[in-house]
Amino acid sequence: MSEAFDVIVIGAGPGGYVCAIRAAQLGLKVACVEKRATLGGTCLNVGCIPSKALLQSSEHYEEALHKLADHGVQVGGVTLDLARMQARKGEVVASNVKGIEFLFKKNKVTWLKGAGRIVSPGRVAVDGTEYETKHIVIATGSESIPLPGVEVDEKRVVTSTGGLELSEVPKHLVVIGGGYIGLELGSVWRRLGAEVTVVEFLDRLVPAMDTEVGKAFERVLGKQGFKFRLKTKVTGAKVDADGVDLTLEPAAGGAAETLRADVVLLAIGRRPYLAGLGLEEAGVALDERGRVATDGHFATNVPGIWAIGDAIAGPMLAHKAEEEGVALAEQLVGQKPHLNPLTIPGVVYTWPEVASVGETEEMLKARGQGYKVGKFPFTANGRARAMGELDGFVKLLADDKTDRLLGAHIIGPDAGTLIAEIALAMEFGASSEDVARTCHAHPSLNEAVKEAALAVAGRALHI
Ligand SMILES: Cc1cc2nc3c(=O)[nH]c(=O)nc-3n(C[C@H](O)[C@H](O)[C@H](O)COP(=O)(O)OP(=O)(O)OC[C@H]3O[C@@H](n4cnc5c(N)ncnc54)[C@H](O)[C@@H]3O)c2cc1C
Repeated sequence: MSEAFDVIVIGAGPGGYVCAIRAAQLGLKVACVEKRATLGGTCLNVGCIPSKALLQSSEHYEEALHKLADHGVQVGGVTLDLARMQARKGEVVASNVKGIEFLFKKNKVTWLKGAGRIVSPGRVAVDGTEYETKHIVIATGSESIPLPGVEVDEKRVVTSTGGLELSEVPKHLVVIGGGYIGLELGSVWRRLGAEVTVVEFLDRLVPAMDTEVGKAFERVLGKQGFKFRLKTKVTGAKVDADGVDLTLEPAAGGAAETLRADVVLLAIGRRPYLAGLGLEEAGVALDERGRVATDGHFATNVPGIWAIGDAIAGPMLAHKAEEEGVALAEQLVGQKPHLNPLTIPGVVYTWPEVASVGETEEMLKARGQGYKVGKFPFTANGRARAMGELDGFVKLLADDKTDRLLGAHIIGPDAGTLIAEIALAMEFGASSEDVARTCHAHPSLNEAVKEAALAVAGRALHI
């Protein structure tokens, strides 16, 4: 038996590393087990950060090609240096993951390098060495869901991991799955010159999204050149020397057809990654969808074993995992943190961005909640006009009796930043009038949020 700890966190993604740091801040002796060569998990290594680096770079390329001239900036001979773009992405990832290593040292969190396995409550083995601990935190994250008949080789048929690493722009990229990961990576490769077709089983993109925003999103992406095959399923993929033949069928059944692709991105969702953790032997129960079952306060059915992040129920988002990591660490020292699931924002980092927090109109209707809607388009916002970014609108939903904000759904420039204002307002239990009466700087995109709040009471000023 080697060293003993108060907490051993298994997995150093945003859930695990943040939990480890917060627990150490609170005076606990903490270790974090990570089998990847670098810290930061899916998010920093193959998820949020590299995808946003490529989104940023590809946006600059598209701007140089198609947008700058309108601003009177003439650039000639714009060419793509994909190798440099990919190298830059690698540099961004490297500096981020090194940052976590620094934070571990600063906070005296021990990184146990290797694969962690729960031997029993209070005992974790890392590549053959056993450690004793009062608490074990499962923060092992998620992996891409496979699709029968579509074998991933990470070259022609890729998950998001391979989709971030392509060394050539495919002529035709087919994305299986109309969720945010597929649409973000589809945007990257479309901007760099690929024809992109999205095949989606359902009749709409990003199904959890407010329907009105979802429709606007589909229209905007369609204008950019995305092709959509909705209500369609992929039943097979045949890879040859220079491409892939995909077999498609109508979701409701019917004649099959073939769609040729240079590269296929499989992005139909993610599922918890729990392989080799020893959960069965330790008696840790899973829920009906294969996630670690918790009691709403991160406790599993085995005392002393906790779970957070993508491994448990809830939206698979880095900031959700982080907040859970903080809340759990605070709980372990006897604090009473509270996490409101309705104020976790969700952002799709395409351009325009799409962001939401709280309930959608469909959710409010389903639970019989009366509501008022306030909407304001970016075409009527001075800053958006100055930027030349006119697509989209802000939509706020408020209780029809109390005026309390119930949800916000934004499609437009920097929607992912704008949504923070409403997440904060909702966290404080604000009404739409609170937002409407708050002075917003001019000219700013946030004024569209204020105007939408005014519109809830039918008194928007600039439309
Ligand atoms: C392409 C892509 C883009 C994304 N973009 C965004 C975004 O923009 N915003 C957002 O909020 N979310 C985004 N996500 C989702 C986000 O990455 C996840 O929600 C987040 O990483 C979950 O954090 P986590 O800590 O639960 O797990 P993870 O980040 O998956 O980390 C788990 C870690 O545990 C390690 N591990 C697993 N088992 C063991 C073991 N037995 N022993 C040791 N180590 C182990 C793994 O190696 C991994 O490093 C994206 C995901 C992808 C794939």
